[in-house]
Amino acid sequence: MREFDLIIVGSGSGNSILTEEYQDLNVAIVEPGTFGGTCLNVGCIPTKMYVYPATVAAEVKDAARLGVEASVNSVDWPAIRDRIFGRTDAISEGGLEYRESMENVTVIREYVHFVEPMVLETDSGERITAPQIVLANGSRVQLPDVPGIDLPGVHTSDTVMRLDELPESIIVVGGGYIAAEFCTCSTVWVPRSPSSTVPSASCGNTTTRLPNGSSVRPPNSGICS
Ligand SMILES: Cc1cc2nc3c(=O)[nH]c(=O)nc-3n(C[C@H](O)[C@H](O)[C@H](O)COP(=O)(O)OP(=O)(O)OC[C@H]3O[C@@H](n4cnc5c(N)ncnc54)[C@H](O)[C@@H]3O)c2cc1C
Repeated sequence: MREFDLIIVGSGSGNSILTEEYQDLNVAIVEPGTFGGTCLNVGCIPTKMYVYPATVAAEVKDAARLGVEASVNSVDWPAIRDRIFGRTDAISEGGLEYRESMENVTVIREYVHFVEPMVLETDSGERITAPQIVLANGSRVQLPDVPGIDLPGVHTSDTVMRLDELPESIIVVGGGYIAAEFCTCSTVWVPRSPSSTVPSASCGNTTTRLPNGSSVRPPNSGICS
């Protein structure tokens, strides 16, 4: 069994724990997924980077009110997507390389689970232990239990931001802040409304709020947030 002074599970907020004060400790960071966790890779940062061009497009649409004639002619989805992930992927990769280069830090790229008090086991069967273990393993996307939820057009916040092609339309399931952000981003995700050839440039060309308790049937394309 490998022994550490400190084990951190999760490289999101968990990674930010490791400041200079820890340089004398033998530390393991456990991260099976994309280094940097949710906020950097599939959460706060990419969504904000989508909201910005969406806001620019919305302001252009609104410019006529101020006496400025302008229009949004097209939205280059791959360019927006690649700009965002070109930056965040580089930060993720740089963060992983930096941690792996540290003499006192071991990065373990596997899932772990507890098998005994203060003992974790990796998916490949290795056991690790430490007197202090930080669980910074975040949360996961949860899909509603409705028929068809596994159809290919159903996306989650983990997957929708990297689509190769834009869907014709999007239904956002959910009404929290993440759903609101995705509605704003529909400016860039759905550049043409289904019923017209005019590029949309506002918070969802058509927003229909279904009453509480409405059942949602699986859409051809949709996001569960
Ligand atoms: C679309 C979206 C937008 C958001 N926008 C905002 C925002 O604007 N502002 C804000 O404050 N918050 C926002 N959030 C929430 C924010 O991203 C999360 O609250 C935050 O990232 C959680 O950080 P964390 O360190 O707890 O977990 P995470 O960053 O999720 O990190 C947990 C890590 O643990 C790893 N892990 C999980 N289980 C195991 C295991 N068994 N073994 C090993 N590793 C494991 C995972 O691979 C993951 O990388 C947003 C979230 C989403 C999805």
